[in-house]
Amino acid sequence: RWPELQPRDGRSRLVVLAGPTAVGKGTVAAAIARQHPEIHLSVSATTRAPRPGEVDGEHYYFVDDAEFDRLVDDGELLEHATVHNRFRYGTPREPIERALGEGKTVLLEIDLQGARQVREADPSATLVFLLPPSWDELVQRLVGRGTEGAEERARRLRTAKVELAAQHEFDYRVVNDEVGHAAEEVVSLTR
Ligand code: 5GP
Repeated sequence: RWPELQPRDGRSRLVVLAGPTAVGKGTVAAAIARQHPEIHLSVSATTRAPRPGEVDGEHYYFVDDAEFDRLVDDGELLEHATVHNRFRYGTPREPIERALGEGKTVLLEIDLQGARQVREADPSATLVFLLPPSWDELVQRLVGRGTEGAEERARRLRTAKVELAAQHEFDYRVVNDEVGHAAEEVVSLTR
């Protein structure tokens, strides 16, 4: 458990946004952060390589395996997981404690395994699952994004099926039909 994260007023200000690959979690989270300075968007560490346009320290902290091991060993991550059986991702602890200390709401855009770890550590956290309008639409978005080859897309769609099957574990489900709309719906759930 994380005593330092327990809210004094009984309402957690830790909000998890999860959902399958290409559903638009990153886009929705970025829209929320842009519109709401009182919401702190966590920047994760990852061992995967940056995609074109991704900036170190802004989209992710891009680290190698040795550095990720060090972060885990030194207890610097609140949660961490291997995603799509492949790369490691984790949530740096210190910026979150600082933001909560400043009275901000903290938004974590993480996978199902991470969401479960957060729930375990802070039962009052709010867990939101972002859904695509349909399975076909999800596949279209993944193909349209054009950032993964066929093999990686197949891997991600397998993970997506596992994640969709666990959506009942979440407190809320939001359909990402339009980014601005989904973003405001998520924000309304944090109030
Ligand atoms: P991508 O490589 O497409 O940016 O992210 C792949 C998956 O990793 C997504 O489901 C994303 O939510 C998840 N992810 C990103 N950061 C974290 C993190 O810090 N912890 C966990 N558990 N998952 C993360």
